Amino acid sequence: MTQARLMDGTALARRVVGETAQQAARITERTGTAPCLATVLVGEDPASVTYVRMKQNRCRAAGIASRRVALPAHTSTAELVGTLRELSADPGVHGILLQHPVGDHVDERAAFEAIAPEKDVDGVTFASFATMSFGLPGFVSCTPGGILRLLDEYGVDPAGKRAVVVGRSAILGKPVGMLLLARDATVTYCHSRTRDLSAAVREADIVVAAVGRPRLIHGQDLKPGAVVIDAGYNAGNVGDVDFDSAVERASLITPVPGGVGPMTIATLLEQTVAAAARQLGV
Ligand code: NAP
Repeated sequence: MTQARLMDGTALARRVVGETAQQAARITERTGTAPCLATVLVGEDPASVTYVRMKQNRCRAAGIASRRVALPAHTSTAELVGTLRELSADPGVHGILLQHPVGDHVDERAAFEAIAPEKDVDGVTFASFATMSFGLPGFVSCTPGGILRLLDEYGVDPAGKRAVVVGRSAILGKPVGMLLLARDATVTYCHSRTRDLSAAVREADIVVAAVGRPRLIHGQDLKPGAVVIDAGYNAGNVGDVDFDSAVERASLITPVPGGVGPMTIATLLEQTVAAAARQLGV
């Protein structure tokens, strides 16, 4: 069998961000207001600081203003909720991103629910999850949204296909399964209690790996010709799929890095500009 074709997330993200920048410029020209994303960071976790800085840089490059709210590590749930409510009510802010983790002492769910659904460009609220699950218009969780965009770009129609999602987190595994279901795939979720992961994966026309365990899924686990989406990102730039063996068996595969990662941020920017357009009435 020939090697799988690579799904180039870097190239697609560049195009999506380019289109988003044009849309941002149109909004700014017509309304005199640039789309604005507020990023809220609690504490100084180095990885979170880097992620937030990266998101702000990408915003700037796309003509999106960003407002950085940095709160001390000891911020209470009530204080964080208060900040998020203020941002939700602020007409100068169109999208809100709460960087997680927020610390064990904070009720993360309460914080997420303080984000107004029309500004929930990271797709973390119950309201966003519900609209996404029903296939209704709204904001989706960014990595799952980016994954669906990649599938569309490469002509993979989930309808009628067997999709296996490995991982069931609220921001990644669960929503990507719901998006695939809304697109008429037959979806199976696997997780840490799944008994025979290889057997489940072998059934899949589409595999989404969203675990955080380096090279958990091997080429021999795949059905020949499967489409493989590796959302995992582990130390040493390694995904959840053993790329070298999987590329020999799959028909399409995302590289790590350069597959899913760039699409996450592109989706965030796109949804921020869409939120601004709606709120500014253009
Ligand atoms: P998470 O919250 O830790 O969830 C991991 C999931 O994997 C859980 O559902 C867990 O099952 C399951 N799991 C753990 N060990 C397993 C095993 N041996 N077999 C099968 N399932 C197993 O992680 P996450 O936030 O979803 O992130 C997952 C990966 O995606 C990480 O590598 C992360 O860095 C990456 N990620 C990438 C992006 C991006 O933009 N590219 C964005 C977000 C996350 P239980 O539910 O039973 O515990």
